[in-house]
Formats: sequence, C-alpha cells, structure tokens
Amino acid sequence: MKEIFDPGKLVRANIKAMKPYSSARDEFHGSAGVFLDANENPYGRLNRYPDPYQWKLKEQISKLKGVPVENIFLGNGSDEIIDLSFRIFCNPGNDKALTFSPTYGMYEVSAEANDIKIIKIPLNDQFQIRFNDIKPYLSDTSIKLIFICSPNNPTGNCIKRDVIERIINDFAGIVVIDEAYNDFSDEPSFRNQISEFPNLIVMQTFSKAFGMASVRVGMAFANKEIVRYYNKLKPPYNISSINQAAVSKNIENGDRYKTQVERIKSERKRINEELLKIPAVLKVFPSDSNFLLVRVNDPDTLYNMLVERSIIVRNRNSIVNGCLRITIGSKRENTKLLNALKKINL
Ligand SMILES: *Cc1c(COP(=O)(O)O)cnc(C)c1O
Repeated sequence: MKEIFDPGKLVRANIKAMKPYSSARDEFHGSAGVFLDANENPYGRLNRYPDPYQWKLKEQISKLKGVPVENIFLGNGSDEIIDLSFRIFCNPGNDKALTFSPTYGMYEVSAEANDIKIIKIPLNDQFQIRFNDIKPYLSDTSIKLIFICSPNNPTGNCIKRDVIERIINDFAGIVVIDEAYNDFSDEPSFRNQISEFPNLIVMQTFSKAFGMASVRVGMAFANKEIVRYYNKLKPPYNISSINQAAVSKNIENGDRYKTQVERIKSERKRINEELLKIPAVLKVFPSDSNFLLVRVNDPDTLYNMLVERSIIVRNRNSIVNGCLRITIGSKRENTKLLNALKKINL
C-alpha cells in the first residue's frame, strides 16, 4: 500500500509558487448588475467575456458523466490539457514522460515543445502493454507522467484494465488515461475511479463521439487538487462562450449522440467484414474506436490510389508497418471507399 498521495508534491516549484492571473470575473461573479470591470464593449451580443470556469456546462457534464463538478476541468480540446499537464508536472530539460508506441502523436509533440524527454515503450504484437517492460521505469522519479491511450490511436484497441491498474498503483507519478474513443467501446471508463487513484487523470473529449471536433472542448477528470492546478495555469478564458453554448446544447439533445455512436459501430462491423473480402487487405485489427487499422499490400501505393479517387485515409505505414487507418464515415462514404477498394488490384 502506498502512503497518502499528494499530487501537489509533484507540481513544479515555480507553478506552485506563481500567482495566477486574477480576471475581473474571478474578483466578482454575480449575474445581475452594471459591469464596468472588464473593459468590455457595452454593445452587441458577444461583447462579454465567457465564464472562466464554465460552471453551467460543468453541471451538465457532471450529470452526464457522473463525476462531481469539482473534479472536472475543461480544456480548449484535449490538446490543451496534454500541454498543461506537461507544464504543471514536468521541469523542462530535466523531467521525462513515458508513452507506449505506437500512439497519439500529440504527447510527443507537446513534450518536445516543453523540452521534456519522452521514453517510448513498444506495445506487443497485440498492441498491449507488457507490464514487465515498464516495471523498471515505475520507480524512476524523473518520470513525472505516463500516458496511456485506451482505446489507443492508431491501433484501435483497449489496453487491459488490470495492467493499467497495476501501473497506476505502482507508479509514484501521474498517470493520464486518454479515453477519447471510450464511447465506441464496451469497456467502462476509468473516470469513476479518480477517487480511488489520486494520481490518475482521465481525459475525454467532445471531438469524437459527440461530433464536435470544431468546437475544441476536452475534459479532464481528476482529483480536485489537480483540477486546481489546471485552473491556475490555464489562460483565463480558454473556452469561448460560443463553444460552451454549443456543447451545452448538444448535451441537452440527450441521447442523439448515442444513436450516432451505434450507427458508427454497426458500420464498423460491416466495413470490417467487407474489407476482409478485398485481396489487398491482409488484416483488420479489432477496434474499440471509430476507426479501423488495416494491414494491406503496398500501403503507400494503395493510399495514393485512394487519394486519386478523392478518398483520404490516414497512412500509418511509417509507425505501424503496412497499415492504413480508416475512419468510419457515413454509410455512403464507407460504401464509396469499399467500391473504390474493390476496383484496385494490388
Ligand atoms: C482525437 C483525439 C483526441 C481529441 O483531441 P481534442 O483536442 O479534444 O480534439 C485526444 N486523444 C486522442 C488519442 C485522439 O485520437
């Protein structure tokens, strides 16, 4: 058993000591009144600064996700949350973060931008974590963050739950589980375990299952100490009022996103089966997400031939040998893809 974990101990000294910007809305937050405190223009409809803590939206997300408001942080996309995590916990030039390759590219980009070294541990041939490979790293105190993407991008599969739990238990730093694709999976989210694991941050997003990639709203669920540091460091008005309202309205639509998710999942099954009939396709990897990783003959040529037919998939050959990543589109789009593939001889 671990002693009581204090995430504050992992926070960079300068972040701990810094005085956050105090916005006009931090100093006074009531709704009625004459507001002459933020140098806003009194005219127009979008003239006021947005709620810096997005309370209304967080209340809705709290109900939707079953997580208390004080354990929720919203970022300008998950990408902002990834970047803030590096800035809160990792000292540039000294600290490290650990990822499992192949995975989402933003962890490394954000690490490099913050001058943090990335340790990449390869997943096994079933794209799972071998616990023994990472065991020696769990006691390395220069490693501050471990990113686990589950379902993983670009491989599509979930990482086994017991391995994730062992990592969270045995690691003295912060574990970030990126669940961007969780709604497409039958595997339950880790977000309800944040009270059990004080060193756990669970990220989700409105960009995928909710169909709101253009509004840039990502969620982090974590203990309130960590949420406090995110709030301390973020730009004061990081989510525009237009974007808060758009997500809010989407949540009010209730189960509509679930219908879309079901449609995408049934298309995923259909495309999977149809792809296996195509001679150039060697393997379709099992997917818990809204895309399929597909191993094909001559991926670079196939990719280019699809582009010539105005069908754009993601060529992942450079990171997963022989593979293309195909997003599940609408039924019409998917059928176009299949028809094109049937005509290509490779
Ligand atoms: C798409 C995706 C996201 C979403 O990022 P946003 O900035 O919220 O749009 C996060 N993580 C992974 C692994 C993704 O593939």
